[in-house]
Amino acid sequence: MHIVVCTKHTPDSEAKMSVDASGKVSWGGSPLIINPWDEYAVEEALRLREAHGGKVTVISMGPPEAVEALKHAIAMGCDEAIRIWEDACVDSDTLATSYVLAKAIEKMGDVDLVLFGKSAIDSQTWQVGVAVARRLGLPALMYVIKIAALDPVQRTITVERLLEEGRQVVSAPLPAVVGTTKGINEPRYTSFMGIRKAARMEYPVWSLAQIGAEANKVGVAGSGVRWPHIFMPPVREGEAEIIQGETVEATVSLLVDKLLAEKVI
Ligand SMILES: Cc1cc2nc3c(=O)[nH]c(=O)nc-3n(C[C@H](O)[C@H](O)[C@H](O)COP(=O)(O)OP(=O)(O)OC[C@H]3O[C@@H](n4cnc5c(N)ncnc54)[C@H](O)[C@@H]3O)c2cc1C
Repeated sequence: MHIVVCTKHTPDSEAKMSVDASGKVSWGGSPLIINPWDEYAVEEALRLREAHGGKVTVISMGPPEAVEALKHAIAMGCDEAIRIWEDACVDSDTLATSYVLAKAIEKMGDVDLVLFGKSAIDSQTWQVGVAVARRLGLPALMYVIKIAALDPVQRTITVERLLEEGRQVVSAPLPAVVGTTKGINEPRYTSFMGIRKAARMEYPVWSLAQIGAEANKVGVAGSGVRWPHIFMPPVREGEAEIIQGETVEATVSLLVDKLLAEKVI
């Protein structure tokens, strides 16, 4: 089994976002981490490798900082990591991002399963996984809460998808693309040995030419979305008052008087 996990580096979830007058977005000095939702995809890939053998390759299209996400995945136990980047990739939207990832997966050739997290915590479009599946002509099994069965010989996978109304059981032939959701597993911590391996490893960078991608299909040239104006939402104005009576009954009575006075009730 060759399993590929796609991952993106994101700011820490505690990061404070700001936008300057020119529309430049900043996450302050926030450390860059693996997209937290992708840890579920990495964990699932490692469990499948433990059950069926093979290897797990983690890939990311991103600038040099993206190596932080790859390092984390290696420290968790992935076997190989590849970054795909050229300056032409700057400002890629999901259309262009999925093109680059699909080309890289195509180049690998022997891939049985491609795993994604449910979304990226910063841009959060939820589009990249399905777009990669569409580009590769593979089944897209998204919002997967459980991989119920995987048969590498019959080359089938059966999953449970999380829907608002319940769960849906779906089977598909391999190779397939699976988007994982929170709750599919409990991601493992990075191990000491894993951290050492991640620190010593070489992280090859594939160029567009190496994956057979055309430069006019990446970055701004290959993107359908333009961001003409980026701004922070207006700060919410409001005030809070703590109502405190001598007793619970008195507090409730004070609250009711206030709500009546404000014509809320
Ligand atoms: C510096 C910067 C500039 C940007 N400029 C533009 C712009 O000009 N126009 C525009 O439309 N968008 C822009 N974006 C946003 C960009 O479109 C998205 O970050 C990107 O396409 C991925 O979409 P998403 O984050 O919504 O991922 P989702 O679709 O929510 O993520 C789904 C899954 O795909 C994985 N994934 C996402 N991206 C990658 C990747 N690069 N490599 C591997 N796996 C990945 C995620 O980790 C997750 O597992 C910019 C982003 C950055 C960081």
